[in-house]
Formats: sequence, structure tokens, C-alpha cells
Amino acid sequence: MKQRIVNKIGATHSELSVYDNFLEVLSVAGEQMGLHKDAVRLLSYPQRVVQVSVPIEMDNGNTEVFTGYRVQHNNARGPYKGGMRFHQAVDEEEVKALAAWMTLKSAVVDIPFGGAKGGVVVDPRKLSDRELQQLSRRFIDQLSSVIGPNVDIPAPDVNTNEQIMAWFTDEYARTHKEMVHLEAAFTGKPMSFGGSRGRKAATGRGGLDVLLAYFEEQGKAVSNLSVAVQGFGNVGSHFARLAHEAGFKVVAISDVSGAIYNGAGLDIPSIATAFEKGGKLDSNVCYSKVGVKSVGHGEGGCKTITNEDLLKLPVDVLVPAALENQIRHDNADDIQAKIVLELANGPTTPEADFVLEEKGVTVIPDILANAGGVTVSYYEWTQNRQNLYWDEEEVNEKLKKKMYRATREVLGLHKEKGISLRQAAYQLALGRLEEAMLLRGWIKPRVKDKIGCVNGCSI
Ligand code: NAD
Repeated sequence: MKQRIVNKIGATHSELSVYDNFLEVLSVAGEQMGLHKDAVRLLSYPQRVVQVSVPIEMDNGNTEVFTGYRVQHNNARGPYKGGMRFHQAVDEEEVKALAAWMTLKSAVVDIPFGGAKGGVVVDPRKLSDRELQQLSRRFIDQLSSVIGPNVDIPAPDVNTNEQIMAWFTDEYARTHKEMVHLEAAFTGKPMSFGGSRGRKAATGRGGLDVLLAYFEEQGKAVSNLSVAVQGFGNVGSHFARLAHEAGFKVVAISDVSGAIYNGAGLDIPSIATAFEKGGKLDSNVCYSKVGVKSVGHGEGGCKTITNEDLLKLPVDVLVPAALENQIRHDNADDIQAKIVLELANGPTTPEADFVLEEKGVTVIPDILANAGGVTVSYYEWTQNRQNLYWDEEEVNEKLKKKMYRATREVLGLHKEKGISLRQAAYQLALGRLEEAMLLRGWIKPRVKDKIGCVNGCSI
């Protein structure tokens, strides 16, 4: 694989961007499945890349200018859809990759959306509430002509949340000078402002559904299987709580400030409560259960470890739920987990994927594992458009059905073709995208396509 990457893209691993990683996997999947060459070509380029400058008056009276992006990758199957990230490491290549993965993700779970992503280069922890609101509103102002409920529907991602979605929605309606409701222009909104029940936990819940569907196919019981979760934000914290409730033994969790570990299992509900007050994963929130009693740091065997240590723990399931490129060529060999459930986008580089495959580690790929978020975003959008709201059981039941079906389809291709789960998920998604592009006439049918050959096929 390493040789292949160097040959295909003409770069060594240290020079590869996350977008190159996407291109590499796309190209291998396209070749293996005999995908239409023009489909590969179209999917190799985002349809639109927008860069904006967002000036904000800071609390000290100075003006700062932040750079923002919205990348619309492909809309063959429906309106562009994808999150908005506020992070200091955002750059165009990253947003392009995240947008492309959204196109594939929507196709894997078979929802009628394309793929997009956006972001602002900013460390939001350094902004006051007023500055953050200003930034959110000005950013949406700048993008308001290229997004909309039938065009491109943003959602939360790293360091953005339902409050920011509420500001986006309010600003979007204001800039359209319509005192009408335009809630369907954004998803991940608060419940009192057009949000869907179950959306906040949807990515973590969907990830757990995928894992349970995977174990069900293996005929394996989940009780007491050990889990380590990297990232304790929206995705990681809901996954950890739901996995704990489902009978998994969550032994380690981490966030940007560090990690906590107890081989006998962490007391996730007590940690979540303490974390809400302190907001940091350190010894102050290190809770374990001794019998029925919840005990803090130093009593039940809970200790702090580093984020790097967490990745190398000998657990049944490792769950990266933070950022890209966490499992790389330089640490893949140290991974001892049996399964990697990718709840973050792009946490494993193609080279690391190869190392993990050689070691017999099963990687459940991001475009399947974390698709629960976009799935319930689709349900939120659907409810907004009907102005009819579902209860939480209904949302969770629909989500479960979607995630189980997609997992079975991916596992089916994996077994039938003897390919990795990532390749299987890509091939499932790419087949659906190819079909949509053929039907739209964006690519010309070949004889074998059996689609669109109304007056005979051209190639
Ligand atoms: P978030 O901002 O709520 O949480 C991110 C978490 O990662 C935080 O706990 C942060 O402290 C932690 N973190 C950051 N850098 C870290 C590091 N170096 N080591 C360990 N932890 C670190 O973001 P989120 O919405 O939970 O998103 C997490 C991942 O899931 C991202 O890759 C995102 O693209 C992906 N994702 C999110 C959604 C969604 O619905 N929010 C959907 C699909 C995929």
C-alpha cells in the first residue's frame, strides 16, 4: 500500500493531505469495482469551493479577520449536506476531504443527500460568547447565497453545537429578508427551534447500532467487551454512555486535555456528571464502581494516561471520536485493539489501514460508522419540511433500521468480494453515486451499465 500511494499520487506519506487519502481510497475502490472512469473523475473534484473572509469586531475594539470555507463536493443524489467545523487546524484540503466523505456517507446509508463541509480557521475557546455569535452570524451571511434548504444544509461538527446552528438559522432567515421559518436550512438545531429528538446523540447511537449489527452477524455477545474512546465531545460522550448502557466495559476515555483509564471499567454516568461541571478529563472526574459504590481517583483503580497511550490499549474495540489522522504509519503497529470503530472522520490514514489489515484488526470505516448523524439530520430536515415532529423512539427506531441495513449491506459485499470493510463501504456508495450520475446524464453509459442506453450506448 505504501508503495502504491507513492506511485499513484507521487508523494511520500509525510506529504499526503487528507484529501490525497480520500483520492487514494477512491482510486483503489474505483479500480477494484470497475467504476466508470468518468465517475471517478467527477468524484475526484469538489463541485464548488468557496472561501470567505469573516471580519469581526473583537471585545477589545480591534477587528480580526477569520478565514472560512464551504466545499460542496457532489449533489448527484440530493442537496449538499455536511457539518461546519470551528478549529484552528481547518484548511481547504481538510474541508475538501470532509465534504467528499459526506457524499459517500449519505450514499452508504442511502439517504437523498450529497456531500459538503465547511469550517472556520479559529480556536473558539479564545472567543467570548459575543465574539462567537458575531463570527457565526457573519460567516453565514457570507455563505447565504450558496446554501439553503434545497441546496446545501449545514450541521454541527467539531466545536460547533446547537446554539451555533440556532444563530446560523436566525441569521440566514434575516439575510433572506423573510420573516418566515427557514428551519430546514440547518440541522442539529435546539429542540425548541426545529430540532429533532434524538439528533444530539445520533452519531454515537448510530455508531453503536453499527457495532451491534456487526457483532450480531458474527454471532458474538457484547457483554463485558472492553472499549476505549478517544474524544469526549458530542460524538464520543454519547457513544461512551450508550455503550456503557448496552453492557460494554468502557475502560478509557479522552479529550484534548488528556485521558483516564481503569481496566476494570469506568463509571461513565458519574464521569459525565462530573465532567459537565469541570469540562476536563483529569483525575477530578476519574470515577469507577466498587460494588454499587461510585469512587473517585485513587480508590477504584482509575488513573490518568496520555492520549497516545489510549490508542495502544489492548481493548476489544478502539473508538477514535476526535479528529483525522490519529492512527498513522508511525503508531499503527502499536494498536492492540481487535476492532477500530471510526466515529471520527478520517482517523486512520491509508498506510495505517494497510498495517491494521496485515495485523488482522477489523476497521469499521467512518463513512458507515458515523453516518448516524447525517441520517438523523435527514430526519430533522424531513420533519421541518412537514412541520410534523416525531417522538424519540420513532427517530431511534428509524435510525437503527437504517444503520443495521447499511451494515448488513457492507458486510455482505465484504464477504462476497473478500475485500476490507472500508473497500466494501466505498464500493456500495460509489455504485449508488455512479447510478445517479448515469441517470442524470452527467456521465455517458457504457454497454455494461444497462442504464440510460435509450438509443444505444456510446462506449
Ligand atoms: P466535538 O467538538 O463535540 O468533540 C471533539 C472531541 O475531541 C472533544 O472532546 C475534544 O476535546 C477532543 N479532541 C480534540 N483533539 C483531540 C486530541 N488530539 N486527542 C483527544 N481528543 C481530542 O466534535 P464532535 O462533533 O464530537 O466530532 C468528533 C468527530 O466526529 C469529528 O471527526 C467529526 O467530524 C466527526 N463527526 C461528527 C458528527 C456530529 O454529528 N457531530 C457526525 C459525524 C462525524
